[in-house]
Amino acid sequence: MSRVWNFSAGPAALPEEVLRQAAEEMLDWHGAGMGVMEMSHRGKEFMSIAEAAEADLRELLAVPASYRILFMQGGAIAENAIIPMNLLGDRKVADYVVTGSWSQKSQKEARRYAGVNIAATSEAGGFTSVPAMRDWQLSDDPAYVFTCTNETIGGVEYPFEPDLAQIGRAEVPVVADMSSHILSRVIDVSKYGLIFGGAQKNIGPAGLTICIVREDLLGRAMPLCPSAFDYKTVAEAGSMYNTPPTYAIYIAGLVFQWLKRQGGVAAMEARNIAKARLLYDYLDGSGFYENRVDPACRSRMNVPFFLKDESLNDAFLSGAKDAGLVQLKGHKSVGGMRASIYNAMPIEGVAALVDYMKAFAARHG
Ligand SMILES: *Cc1c(COP(=O)(O)O)cnc(C)c1O
Repeated sequence: MSRVWNFSAGPAALPEEVLRQAAEEMLDWHGAGMGVMEMSHRGKEFMSIAEAAEADLRELLAVPASYRILFMQGGAIAENAIIPMNLLGDRKVADYVVTGSWSQKSQKEARRYAGVNIAATSEAGGFTSVPAMRDWQLSDDPAYVFTCTNETIGGVEYPFEPDLAQIGRAEVPVVADMSSHILSRVIDVSKYGLIFGGAQKNIGPAGLTICIVREDLLGRAMPLCPSAFDYKTVAEAGSMYNTPPTYAIYIAGLVFQWLKRQGGVAAMEARNIAKARLLYDYLDGSGFYENRVDPACRSRMNVPFFLKDESLNDAFLSGAKDAGLVQLKGHKSVGGMRASIYNAMPIEGVAALVDYMKAFAARHG
């Protein structure tokens, strides 16, 4: 067996330790005589798995007791509809901060259910930065302000937490799509009304969506909201209103335990800073490659880059594959390359990429 360095944006690489443990437990989980995929979601074995996963996530992110953690399905794209259906309540408008492809998609979907005000957008600059909060034009009484705190495609990450108290609007709940950087850095959950994300970037397998929602926001769903997507219904049923994605929850739980063994989120953040610095410093100094994002807003998780001579793109990708470095092709809407370096990517993988890039530049420069 040989494993490659996998820079996929998602579904993405998982910690090898987690995969090994899952493989060992595949046929017989802890003496149950069956694997996790075969268990009733209401049996005591699986209930213990789900409870531990939730408790570990709560500990890792220091989620206050006034927030509920929901294990849902449908991914972040379904949440783009589920959020306005749940949070609009008796208001007319929701505010959106648009910083790239994902928040753009979110605001478009929300228009089916709510009035949408674009509070700020970095579109004029080609989505290479995050508008400062003092420039956000919030509406008078929005149901919430939507943000995507890490734009996976553009490689743009908020360099600040969207804490509306700083602009005198603490009463408005902040919603944050953290699909591609949740658990990569320390956050203050109490600054948000709702944090959500698909698991397949920085947590576990596709099929699981994690929502961390402030309790006072439950119970506002529109009558047309499907019960399985009503946060209050899901919360009251302990995320078991319908059959949850049991195996994905189990793997996510193993990842949470792995994160705790790594020293938790603050320790991961330090590693992620070192990994990102290694790659960006090389890119900036190379003269051969470039990253076009405002340096203050560069993502630590998703690093898009371009070869200055784009005619070498195919040679770059095929040489990378031969060197065991895969999934480096950029998103089709951006072009170029993209290296996603989530928690599960060790610094050795980033170093292997930089070594390859140096050798390629030396050969073709
Ligand atoms: C991947 C991604 C999505 C889409 O997630 P799905 O699980 O495919 O619905 C949405 N937002 C962000 C920030 C993402 O990275």
